[in-house]
Amino acid sequence: MLRMQGVTRLYRTDSVETVALDGIDLDIADGEFVAIMGPSGCGKSTLLNVVGMLDSPTGGSYVFNGTEVAGLAEAKLADFRKANIGFIFQSFNLVDELSVRDNIELALLYHDVPAAERRRRTDAVMDRVGIAHRAKHRPSQLSGGQQQRVAVARALVAEPKLILADEPTGNLDTNHGEEVMRMLQGLNAEGSTIVMVTHSPAHADYASRVVNMLDGRILQERRRAA
Ligand code: ADP
Repeated sequence: MLRMQGVTRLYRTDSVETVALDGIDLDIADGEFVAIMGPSGCGKSTLLNVVGMLDSPTGGSYVFNGTEVAGLAEAKLADFRKANIGFIFQSFNLVDELSVRDNIELALLYHDVPAAERRRRTDAVMDRVGIAHRAKHRPSQLSGGQQQRVAVARALVAEPKLILADEPTGNLDTNHGEEVMRMLQGLNAEGSTIVMVTHSPAHADYASRVVNMLDGRILQERRRAA
């Protein structure tokens, strides 16, 4: 699905230069579930943002599904991102003025999907993550675990090739965290490709591969025995 070679990301201010990514080589195949771990400041979020095309590398090559995206202009990159990537964030990022159903359907408004088809797909994805019985609720009326289910449904509804999750369990208690991890594992078993940043070794164990980072580099990779 994607291949990075020698990817760098420098941040420059007037006086300091920070090397957030320092020559990343990373291949991710269709159907993988990859966890990215490492100490605070090692570049995990920067890597996820570059993978998700929210940010561009300052050097190196990033090929996504056969297309070199490293040098793409912002508008092109945004189109590519919209067509291919679904995001899940630590803080859910739901709109509290909208119902669960409308939060999910909103993700399709940018995709030129006809209304009847939007409804069908929203219903299907709510069933899939087990939130259909709360379709008319507002996000604030749900538990954290349920809110993250809605966010997962919103990420899934446009049928992205790749799902990116930035500490998806960071705001959840142990039980809800594990519930969300089991759901991600289930989606992966059904074919979704997932890349997740996590601080939790227990949650990284749900992934098929763990990538450990330090100082902007990949230190070590570990595949779980099938
Ligand atoms: P992590 O997600 O592993 O905590 P980050 O990817 O957020 O790490 O950050 C990697 C490094 O890049 C850190 O040293 C951080 O201070 C720096 N950094 C991140 N974003 C910016 C930015 N917008 N401007 C300058 N430096 C940044």
